[in-house]
Amino acid sequence: MTSSEKPTAFADAATADEQALTRDASFMRVAIEEAVAAANSGDVPVGAVLVDAAGMIVGRGRNRRELLQDPTAHAEVEALRDAARQRGAWRLAGLTVYVTLEPCPMCAGALVNARVSRLVYGCTDPKAGAVDTLFTIGRDLRLNHRYEVQGGVLTDECAGLLRAFFAPRRKEKADPGR
Ligand code: ZN
Repeated sequence: MTSSEKPTAFADAATADEQALTRDASFMRVAIEEAVAAANSGDVPVGAVLVDAAGMIVGRGRNRRELLQDPTAHAEVEALRDAARQRGAWRLAGLTVYVTLEPCPMCAGALVNARVSRLVYGCTDPKAGAVDTLFTIGRDLRLNHRYEVQGGVLTDECAGLLRAFFAPRRKEKADPGR
């Protein structure tokens, strides 16, 4: 795991919007790698990366709740801790967070506390999503910090990982193999 990876170069012909989309997708793919690693150790596949304004990855995290038996070991919190540790600073202004699943209330709040600038997520979470679905943490004017929120980047891939993870478990529940 390194923290010095750069996104791929972009064609000059691409518009600024296309470049931004390509950049977001390429960092989301790194978050997806983290999510796959989470699944490999028996955790729900959610991954996150933090990227600075220059396009350098400065923090990575994946859900390790089962592995660590820690209710707060969500991907976003792990990535924030990674970046803060490396920088020796809790204030992470200017960073963009890429996460495969819409953050829960705890993580959406942690992003406020870290003062991040932007959040990009893959698929929504109907049961815990706290930046668009159930709450709008990140855009709430009552809080002391806000960040830009963008969903829908590589949604199908991010959701597919979760479906693949839960499918055999649901089957097990339906048919306990008596
Ligand atoms: Zn969370």
